[in-house]
Amino acid sequence: MEKFKKLNLSEELLDAIRQAGFESPSEIQEKTIPLVLSGKDVIGSSETGSGKTLAFGAGIIDRVSPGAGIQALILTPTRELAEQVGQTISKFSHKKRIKVTQVYGGVSMDPQIRAIRQADIVVGTPGRLLDHLKRRTLNLSKVKFLVLDEADRMLDMGFVRDVESIIKSCPSNKQTMLFTATLSKDIEYMAKKYMKNPVHIQA
Ligand code: AMP
Repeated sequence: MEKFKKLNLSEELLDAIRQAGFESPSEIQEKTIPLVLSGKDVIGSSETGSGKTLAFGAGIIDRVSPGAGIQALILTPTRELAEQVGQTISKFSHKKRIKVTQVYGGVSMDPQIRAIRQADIVVGTPGRLLDHLKRRTLNLSKVKFLVLDEADRMLDMGFVRDVESIIKSCPSNKQTMLFTATLSKDIEYMAKKYMKNPVHIQA
């Protein structure tokens, strides 16, 4: 745990990390967590399985307050990934009483609408998130952190426009983190258009 302790994370989060049985941060975690905590935009080139969820999640968990509106929005290409990321963030944040909810298509709206009202962190897929925005059942005005997870897949699946609309519904002074396995032209366009001096991390 020594290396985790050096990252300036809260005792509650360190406890949850200890409980998960993690002994030391993965490379992407060690590089990303300090940047997130210092307010930098980050582009992480990393594969699934690298530990990227906690890499972006740790800083978010420690900078979000319970009951203060949706302060972090995490976009994923698929519902499976939204579930997986949401469950991981929940596991590490429950000691801080932070509420996380997953939002994706193919299930009914009403339970999602109720969960969104209570949520501090939302993890979801672009189509359904946009649907909620159009119905005004999702308010992104308090978002401080935006994560584009598996951004290359999200763009390959044709979500560019949806993602752009969602980004534009968030305040402009937020911190943005983008994770991708490949650095395509489209990714570079998104980074240039929507990120502020992003730091590139390779792991
Ligand atoms: P992720 O890339 O975030 O989906 O994580 C991939 C897998 O690595 C998950 O099963 C995590 O539980 C595990 N994992 C993440 N960070 C660590 C760590 N620091 N030590 C050990 N396992 C980890």
